Amino acid sequence: MDCVFCKIINGEIPSVKVYENDHILAFLDINPMEKGHVLVIPKQHWPSLPEVPVDDSSDVAMAEELYYMVRVIAKACIRSFADGANILQCNGEAAGQTVFHLHFHVIPRCKDSSHPLSFDSGHAHYDSDEERAQYAEKLRTAIAKILAEEKVL
Ligand code: 5GP
Ligand code: ZN
Repeated sequence: MDCVFCKIINGEIPSVKVYENDHILAFLDINPMEKGHVLVIPKQHWPSLPEVPVDDSSDVAMAEELYYMVRVIAKACIRSFADGANILQCNGEAAGQTVFHLHFHVIPRCKDSSHPLSFDSGHAHYDSDEERAQYAEKLRTAIAKILAEEKVL
């Protein structure tokens, strides 16, 4: 499989590792948004978060381990040099995903950063209260269907 992160896991491409166990690898991003920017990935090749399978308990356990390590690495950034941390996770080209192997960005943030965080929020506007309600209703319907299909909770 031609996946850059699988190649990093296999050691075909070098990386600066900060944590590794049987299921998870965390390493420095080659093109960091801030110093100490970490990528946390499962060793299992899942293309994105919505594509993580939930019908096998070992996959669910591995995904939980991944979320736990994201938390630990954010905590480690804050304990060692940062004032805060952002977690960024992109799913699909439209969302800016460029490597199609599931990954979480842990981006340390410092109060004195020369690249202060700016979320481009406030650009979208609902045409009406009705349109807002329609978006919420579409989401509620889809959430209920997914929960019924996946029967995890
Ligand atoms: P995405 O936009 O898919 O969420 O982010 C992919 C990230 O992977 C980018 O921040 C990019 O810098 C990083 N990346 C891509 N190729 C490599 C690589 O070969 N080594 C490392 N360490 N990071 C990479
Ligand atoms: Zn991969």
